[in-house]
Amino acid sequence: MVKNLLHPDGKILAIYFPPGLPERSGSCAFASMKCLVNCLSYLIQNSITKGTFDAFRKYEAKALTEKLWGQIKEQPIKLMEWFCWGDCPPEMTDKVVDIIKGLSEKGVIQCGFTRNKELWRVVLKVPNVRIGITIEDIDDVKEYAKKGLVAHPQYDSGETELFYKVTNNRHHASCGGSFMRETANGISYEADCQTCYKNKRGCFTKFEKK
Ligand code: SF4
Repeated sequence: MVKNLLHPDGKILAIYFPPGLPERSGSCAFASMKCLVNCLSYLIQNSITKGTFDAFRKYEAKALTEKLWGQIKEQPIKLMEWFCWGDCPPEMTDKVVDIIKGLSEKGVIQCGFTRNKELWRVVLKVPNVRIGITIEDIDDVKEYAKKGLVAHPQYDSGETELFYKVTNNRHHASCGGSFMRETANGISYEADCQTCYKNKRGCFTKFEKK
């Protein structure tokens, strides 16, 4: 197996899968054309994305969980991000769910975004997990946002509106490449998932560690 499955994204460690459609060796089975055109990875597939993806295809969930834990347990805050690049393809959903549950039992906080609705639905109730579903159609956002975290991309501005269990159809925060902003007071902070976790902001609004 590759030496490391997790690689830095700012101050935290993240899973990078190959971006792009499966027919182009990518992992983004649910990508829209807008998403592909605006992807911040520029659809680059490098040795990191390929090595991680190959390991996930080759090894069982238990071995992958232990490998991930080996890296995370050295971190001051045991927090990791799923799919900084790429996404969970449908054939890998069960394996990723098992890994997420295994890491959750070890107390690992897990965040990130996916377009895999089955994955999102299953891990909604897993403790220590706050993974968002990316939804482009605002009419659909309202429905999903009743259940959990929803990311609504704004391709023009590069910001993503975040909704969490809302009934008023209003996002509570926006996250851009370098900042996150709380909607209620308009205050912006550095986009740092550790700080969001500590302060229950952004993706971690109303988050309780178990
Ligand atoms: S809102 Fe906070 S936790 Fe969510 S992606 Fe942005 S910086 Fe990370």
